[in-house]
Amino acid sequence: MSSAPGKVPAIAADEWARAVDAIQRADEVCLACHVCPDGDALGSMLAFAQALRVLGKAFTASFGDAFVVPRILRFLPGLDLLTDPADFPAEPDVMITFDAASSDRLGTLAANAGKAGELIVMDHHASNTRFGTTHLVDPGAAATAVVAEHLIDLLGVPLTHDIALDLYVGLVTDTGSFKYRSTTPEVHALAQRLMATGIRPERVAREVWDRAPFGYLPVLAAALGRARLEPDVANGLGLVWTTVTRADRAAHDLPYDLLEGVIDVVRRTDEAEVAVVFKEDDEGAWQVSTRSKGRIDVGSACVALGGGGHRMAAGFTLHGEVEPAVERLRDLLTENEVAARP
Ligand code: AMP
Ligand code: MN
Ligand code: MN
Repeated sequence: MSSAPGKVPAIAADEWARAVDAIQRADEVCLACHVCPDGDALGSMLAFAQALRVLGKAFTASFGDAFVVPRILRFLPGLDLLTDPADFPAEPDVMITFDAASSDRLGTLAANAGKAGELIVMDHHASNTRFGTTHLVDPGAAATAVVAEHLIDLLGVPLTHDIALDLYVGLVTDTGSFKYRSTTPEVHALAQRLMATGIRPERVAREVWDRAPFGYLPVLAAALGRARLEPDVANGLGLVWTTVTRADRAAHDLPYDLLEGVIDVVRRTDEAEVAVVFKEDDEGAWQVSTRSKGRIDVGSACVALGGGGHRMAAGFTLHGEVEPAVERLRDLLTENEVAARP
């Protein structure tokens, strides 16, 4: 039973109560979201940081590994509230994690989480490993932002425009602009509450999806030009995959963090149930994005490759060659066909 039936039903009332109590009693609350944060991770965390500021509660908010906010998220309210992860308390009294399915997704801040007195894990991944002491984890929630909004509400903090904008970015990015199956009536009801604070959706869309420097076009062309369709893979449901190399980006001076939209073009392919894009980052590792139309569980496939995610959108990091990883993926996709949903 949820404290607000129907709203975030997967989380028990005593988990909410425990989280609220820990936050209210803490002298400082430490917040961390997953590495290479996306709109949901950073949006949920910054919304919560702003709520703590309203409450007059001391806090630290950060994310591990490379402490660089992706370009497309540099319009989020509250970026000034972030602290360098090097200054994150080593043994936080109360710590909350956002949108991280497992502790390793916190990168360097996983060590701090391991030493937290109370570790509140806020997330919506089915693959969540429940690595905390309190779990606000709802696999049915469209975004961590949905869970964050409810906790902010329970703490009695009203939705300001800036808090709502951060939550809205989490909601709109994780639902693919309200296009994915996760877009329930409750999602639209939350969007309505957020928008009522004065949010301009066309401005959010322009920042997140509808802009890029000219160099994006030739890089996208290179990636699309070498896309491969393998119709027999995944029990005949089909795979389409491609790569975006460091060399592609260097030729047009394009930063890595502008590649997020490439998968959304590749996944259009009618002949393929699964789409995969290998993106080479500045360190030479491959960040791999996978998408399914529903018949293949790419989340399980990516977990087997050391990554994680959801059934229809998942990823993993590859240190090594692309071809052997594709070979492994072909097998995993075959093994992870799921019964068609109604
Ligand atoms: P992306 O393709 O980067 O949009 O990621 C899709 C989903 O896959 C995200 O919601 C993440 O939960 C998950 N994901 C992506 N990369 C990784 C990774 N390296 N390790 C674990 N999960 C990942
Ligand atoms: Mn995320
Ligand atoms: Mn998310």
